[in-house]
Amino acid sequence: MLKQSKVFSFWVRKVDKETRARAAVISTPHGEIKTPAFSPVATRASVRALDPADLKKCKSQVVLANTYHLYLTPGIEIIKKFGGLAPFMQWNGPTITDSGGYQVSFLWGQNEEEKIGRVVSITDRGALFSSHIDGSRHLLTPEKSMEIQHILGADIIMAFDQPLGRQYSDKQKIEAFERTLKWEERSFVAWKKLGNKQALYGITQGDTDKRLRRKSLEFILQTGFPGIAMGGESIGKDPKITADTLDTVADLLPDDKPLHALGLGGGPEGIFVGVARGVDTFDNTSITRLARNGWLFIYPEDGGNIKNKFRIDLNKRKFAEDKKSISPYCDCYTCQNFSRAYLHHLFNTKELLVFRLASMHNIYFINTLMERIRKSIIAGELKDLAKVWLDKKL
Ligand SMILES: [Zn+2]
Repeated sequence: MLKQSKVFSFWVRKVDKETRARAAVISTPHGEIKTPAFSPVATRASVRALDPADLKKCKSQVVLANTYHLYLTPGIEIIKKFGGLAPFMQWNGPTITDSGGYQVSFLWGQNEEEKIGRVVSITDRGALFSSHIDGSRHLLTPEKSMEIQHILGADIIMAFDQPLGRQYSDKQKIEAFERTLKWEERSFVAWKKLGNKQALYGITQGDTDKRLRRKSLEFILQTGFPGIAMGGESIGKDPKITADTLDTVADLLPDDKPLHALGLGGGPEGIFVGVARGVDTFDNTSITRLARNGWLFIYPEDGGNIKNKFRIDLNKRKFAEDKKSISPYCDCYTCQNFSRAYLHHLFNTKELLVFRLASMHNIYFINTLMERIRKSIIAGELKDLAKVWLDKKL
């Protein structure tokens, strides 16, 4: 039996009778995460436009940062001097870091150099990439990713993987899949050498291929990772594909390990789909990106539904004189103080304040939805809640 950190634990309080949904508590050295829970993304140690006090006001319990970006800037040496990512950004709750695998895979064969660098080659050894800042070359390996994540000091960290990119040929997909198994094993060994104080999640890959997904998960379970993450494009935008992908491994998912969905999309509908299939935590960048573009979430009480994707577009002229808040049913800071007309004006004039106000509402909205889901699981009423939100069975 592998000796794991004493301070990381996963306790399931209640499991839904009809689905795999569960209300649990993930205990970490920096506090508890009551699940199911959403983690906003602080790519470069900042959730855009929001500081930690704003995030707490929005009921956020955890944030996820990106290894790849932080490695390039400000660099690990600087973050090390602050004692890790959380003290550096003054966030006093639990944190998650990804492994850099997603960026490496996504950038391979793409010309994104100006933004975040360029991947020169991917071999079994690792991914060689050049920095967008000074052109310097770096080799990211499973061992290196573990070392960086060790210094960043998040409570939950991810194995180094190579998700299957959209641009990959069939041959490249198989290579990437096999490589991911090797890289995850090396991540696991490196993590143990570093003292296994953080909770390392193995990432299942394989896209929508049932055989690959199952092979990937079986490998993770055999190896003994403390947690499981589902990665890849098929966990992204489309709730139907997310459902199918999660269903391919439903019978293999263990009851005693947390499941994180990387980049779970699809708004409230996607969240219900994921939670009903055992997702405990998830991150997503579109919730705040939508906010910055004027798309604000509304509750079913406001007329939010699957068709309008539970959102309104505040850029529209019809809101120019609207004195209501985004949602009269929302208790967030923005809705308590500001009108749709004011926010419309801020979007119209591109005032920076709107990024903060809009992001606060969208994060608060999703966190409120997660609270409602958790309560309904505990009360045995998830089915009823899903009916209100989705107007259909889960
Ligand atoms: Zn609000």
